[in-house]
Amino acid sequence: MKTLCAVLLVIIPTCVLAQVPEQKPEIPVEQWKGKTAMLIGAHADDDALSHGTLALLQAHGNQVYVVTLTTGNVGTQDASLSRTQLAQIRRQEELAALAELGVPADHYINLGYDDGMLEFEDRKAVVENLVRLLRKIRPDVLFAWDPGKNFQRWHKSDHRAAAYLAADAARAAMWRLLFEGQITQEGLKEFMVPEYLFYNDYDHGDENLTVDINDFVEKKVNAGAKYVSQFGPGWKKYKANLTETELKEMKDSMRKQVRMKDGKAIEGFRYYRGLPDALGK
Ligand SMILES: [Zn+2]
Repeated sequence: MKTLCAVLLVIIPTCVLAQVPEQKPEIPVEQWKGKTAMLIGAHADDDALSHGTLALLQAHGNQVYVVTLTTGNVGTQDASLSRTQLAQIRRQEELAALAELGVPADHYINLGYDDGMLEFEDRKAVVENLVRLLRKIRPDVLFAWDPGKNFQRWHKSDHRAAAYLAADAARAAMWRLLFEGQITQEGLKEFMVPEYLFYNDYDHGDENLTVDINDFVEKKVNAGAKYVSQFGPGWKKYKANLTETELKEMKDSMRKQVRMKDGKAIEGFRYYRGLPDALGK
């Protein structure tokens, strides 16, 4: 598009207005220290797309929080599991995965909504819950499903809902008179998220930042291998402990999925900094 704009600029000077300046963090993510990062996802494992970056941030003296909206109590092919059992398994797996990254258990927050139904929940109540967390944790950077740039991005239902709920909560958190009971009664203060790293399950073409996770691949692989009920043999017939061979196969599969660029392992994001009103532009 830049080339097209360059050509059009000659005849249509306003074309320059359509160009959004490329945003980059002032300090590369690989050098961040002392920041607080918060990730909002729909399911235990949504954060896995960012595990290399979260492990890096944790290792470099940043605080990492993971907020999951649903209990993950539906997604299984194992006919013998109840919703309650599955929710318990998903929680254990998530805590085990985060432990591999060095993220403490009390930095995992699950809001307890039902898997698969997020977009039918009371949106105001979900946003209010997320706003409360944003105002409490006050993250320097928010990781979330990408709601899309210029267009609404399609994700499967819970991911789609989580993308917009996170964006709506980020916007609401900065307004003192929205959910003002949190401020007048709970001692919280309004808060504007300064920076965002939007994740996707593949590069839709809007990625503008890659993080070098080369030193954290094994942490990412080991964390990913904790999701036994979602990947590997536990998907069809859950079992708590895999054989050595099964575990190796699962880790090999995780390692194969790690993205490579210029010989280094990476994770890709759409970075945004600024008012939440414009985070889709
Ligand atoms: Zn998910």
